[in-house]
Amino acid sequence: MARIAFIGLGNMGGGMAANLAKKGHDVRAFDLSAGALDRAKAAGCLAAGTAVEALDGAEAVVTMLPAGTHVESVYTDAVFATAPTSAILIDCSTIDVATAKRIAEAAQAKGFTPVDAPVSGGIGAANAGTLTFMVGGSAEAFDRAQPFLADMGKAVIHAGANGSGQAAKIVNNMLLGVTMAGTCEAFLLAQKLGLDPQKFFDISSVSSGQSWSMTTYAPLPGVGPDTPADHDYQGGFAAALMLKDLRLAMQAATDADAQTPMGAKAAELYERFNADGQGGKDFSGIIRMLDAAE
Ligand code: NAD
Repeated sequence: MARIAFIGLGNMGGGMAANLAKKGHDVRAFDLSAGALDRAKAAGCLAAGTAVEALDGAEAVVTMLPAGTHVESVYTDAVFATAPTSAILIDCSTIDVATAKRIAEAAQAKGFTPVDAPVSGGIGAANAGTLTFMVGGSAEAFDRAQPFLADMGKAVIHAGANGSGQAAKIVNNMLLGVTMAGTCEAFLLAQKLGLDPQKFFDISSVSSGQSWSMTTYAPLPGVGPDTPADHDYQGGFAAALMLKDLRLAMQAATDADAQTPMGAKAAELYERFNADGQGGKDFSGIIRMLDAAE
């Protein structure tokens, strides 16, 4: 069992740190929020008063922070100054590819071994320890990070060099945003053409229009399996987070000079949905906005 510094104990990090403690690790947890720290303490972590206190003597450092600016400042101000260079540095936050690569280069220059390891799966999966991790880093770094990630998830996949985990995450979520928008408009058109939505689901979910958005996450209430649509679009994957990931994908596409017209359209739709004050709803809720837009 290892001494782990865990920084960022929010919706996702709280459950992840708790799972590491449950596996018997000595987890030194830090967050700017006193409430988050109290919850981590109740879950078996040691609540550190500062990031530096959490990092002292760490064998692994896990960060789960909102965005690239937070990760970069925690690394620059605390991790590089305090963590032993022998520590494996694992950033699980979803951040932009360029910042992930820059942080990794700075870490390597100081003798650290860094990986980016963003997750698929929401708060439920973080609490249950069933996240999927997509990991960017060297083969050696992946091998060192893998056991810690396996303690918090059901799948740990090596995506490639540093930054590749973030690339996999945002490209996957761009595709998810596109298929969800397409699935929503398909259901609405089917209804306008007089099709029963459940019949359309029965046909499309075993035909070539099939996708995860259609089959597992149908965006209409009472159609297909139980989904956030059956709960007034509460829970699930917040539209604000989908927008965050689409913005990251659009930024990466610009940097890489890639054509992503469908991703751009999905980003535009989620910008509108969030501007309408719907960012807290599940991302399948855009079907209502599309339905209302006559
Ligand atoms: P959150 O806002 O609930 O938690 C972030 C935590 O970081 C907060 O508790 C905040 O106080 C803390 N924090 C910020 N700056 C800090 C600093 N300098 N030092 C210490 N603590 C600091 O966010 P979340 O929902 O847990 O998401 C975390 C990351 O996971 C994000 O990058 C998000 O995109 C990604 N993600 C979230 C979900 C989800 O369903 N919530 C799913 C997949 C990926």
